Amino acid sequence: MREEALSAIRRKMDAAAVRAGRRPEEVTLVAVTKTVGVAMVREAFRAGLRIFGENRVQEAREKAGQLPEEEYPGIRWHLIGHLQKNKVKQAVQLFDLIHSVDSPGLAEELHRQAERTGKMQRVLVQVKLSPEETKHGAAEQDLLPLLGRVRQLGALKVEGLMTMPPFFDDPEKARPYFRKLRELRDRAEKEGFRLPELSMGMSDDFEVAIEEGATLVRIGTALFGERSG
Ligand SMILES: *Cc1c(COP(=O)(O)O)cnc(C)c1O
Repeated sequence: MREEALSAIRRKMDAAAVRAGRRPEEVTLVAVTKTVGVAMVREAFRAGLRIFGENRVQEAREKAGQLPEEEYPGIRWHLIGHLQKNKVKQAVQLFDLIHSVDSPGLAEELHRQAERTGKMQRVLVQVKLSPEETKHGAAEQDLLPLLGRVRQLGALKVEGLMTMPPFFDDPEKARPYFRKLRELRDRAEKEGFRLPELSMGMSDDFEVAIEEGATLVRIGTALFGERSG
């Protein structure tokens, strides 16, 4: 990982926050390490990064096993990819925050496994805002019922929403999706939910996402270079 890449990203993050009249500390960088080797994750930790995002449970387990918290104090893993029910038990053991809850069935299984181990599992609800894409996420009209269900599950703490817009060459084209997620959040808060976190923005569009209210940006290639896999 290039330290200059990290400082450039941090500068851009801070500037975007300030442009939007927000405090830079409100925005957390999630370093997306899918396909990135453990040696590079170690380097990223040394450079000051603490939160690592993975989209596959197995890959995250392998890396986390080699980066124990005793030696890497404060290291945290976030699941940013789709979660299958048969991986829920492992996911609850490993992830501090799961960004991708998108159905009542998945939420219920997460609750069951978290309750067993006495864990309060922090989660975000993933929303699908682009029907033409084959993406995961709850449909807009299913959001409030899903939030209502999750609220009944005592071992889950829902902290916000996540989305992944379609890819555009021009990051400005992603802006309406980010704005939409914030508006959905605001609407849900009027219904009594508390959803401070908005996980949105990746390497190509994190500045726009921060201008629209992102609190967690998920950045891979801008930090670690192009993925081979
Ligand atoms: C891979 C991935 C990212 C990071 O994408 P980059 O363009 O490499 O920054 C962010 N979020 C999710 C859900 C991903 O799968």
